[in-house]
Amino acid sequence: MGGGQLGLMIVEQAHLLGARTLCLDPAPDAPAFALSDGHIVAAYDDAAALEELCRRSDVVTYEFENVPGSVLIPLEKKYNIPQGFRPLYDSQDRLREKDNARANGLRTPLYAAVDDEASLRAALAEIGFPAVLKTRTLGYDGHGQLVLKGEADVPRALPMLSVPCILEAFVPFDFEASIVMVSDGERVIHFPIGRNVHRDGILDLCFVPAEGIDDGLRSRMAAAGERFMKSCRYRGILAIEFFIRDGEFYFNEMAPRPHNSGHYTIEGCTTNQFRELVRFLLGEPLQEPQLVAPTVMKNILGQDLEAAERIAAENRPGVHVHLYGKTESRPKRKMGHITFVGMDAGEYGAAWADRFVK
Ligand code: AMP
Repeated sequence: MGGGQLGLMIVEQAHLLGARTLCLDPAPDAPAFALSDGHIVAAYDDAAALEELCRRSDVVTYEFENVPGSVLIPLEKKYNIPQGFRPLYDSQDRLREKDNARANGLRTPLYAAVDDEASLRAALAEIGFPAVLKTRTLGYDGHGQLVLKGEADVPRALPMLSVPCILEAFVPFDFEASIVMVSDGERVIHFPIGRNVHRDGILDLCFVPAEGIDDGLRSRMAAAGERFMKSCRYRGILAIEFFIRDGEFYFNEMAPRPHNSGHYTIEGCTTNQFRELVRFLLGEPLQEPQLVAPTVMKNILGQDLEAAERIAAENRPGVHVHLYGKTESRPKRKMGHITFVGMDAGEYGAAWADRFVK
């Protein structure tokens, strides 16, 4: 379900493992359609189309987070959708997502539900400034968010309250990091933790290994992530984004699908996030990934597409350019990514950062 770049990369790995693929997406030119063996153009809430996808498939997964429960829940009873609706349900609402994270052992920033001016004022009294107001549903890549630095920002926040929101403490984090895990219900494997840099709320860079995370913190994060997955009884793939501050980690959000910060695994690890998801779906034993070499992943948004095409033409060893084949390029749209294998943050900054839009 879903034919974006994540779907495209799932399809690639499924083919390498000998599977055939069928993909559903509302856009007739969805990236994954270029490679999938079949496709269905339909909306994510088109129950008949989703049922057709399930009927024609041995196993179903999703790369899109907002497939509605009203269609997925009846389908998961009849068809093989091993991740099920549960992790989507838990992640589709930021309030539920954080309640669930806390209930299953992860520390979060302070937060409170906000529905109107009175509850916003009460939440601000408890959490204080600065704080971040987010819509509870349908937010992504920094959309539907407002940072409140002081009283003067409150009037600007009020129009957002036409939909249910959550107010979070603004975390003055040292940096952000994420972990991608795959579980078969018994064993959980995890990919090396990446250090993430966002720009305008969108992932820009991912550095692995994550400088600033020592062995102790790394193993505490991995253990907490694995315990969380087991405690929630999730199966399949899950990515968790954390804020790191003073050697502690705080849950920010999760996604039960391959994650942008895990794209580096395709060339940077001995096995990758898409491949292990497919191995899980096919009932094959999971493989614990190893980092091949220090790796940097740079996201290519519309404004960097030309630079990426030039870099692709240079054909340098260790520089892997992925372009998703989207027909329309827009400044903040994810058009591709580049993985630099055998490179660390310092080398990237010195030799490559200037080639992209600042
Ligand atoms: P999200 O969609 O919640 O992942 O937010 C997008 C980005 O906004 C995050 O990756 C952070 O860089 C920033 N952000 C979100 N929430 C907070 C917070 N509570 N404190 C500080 N920065 C935040």
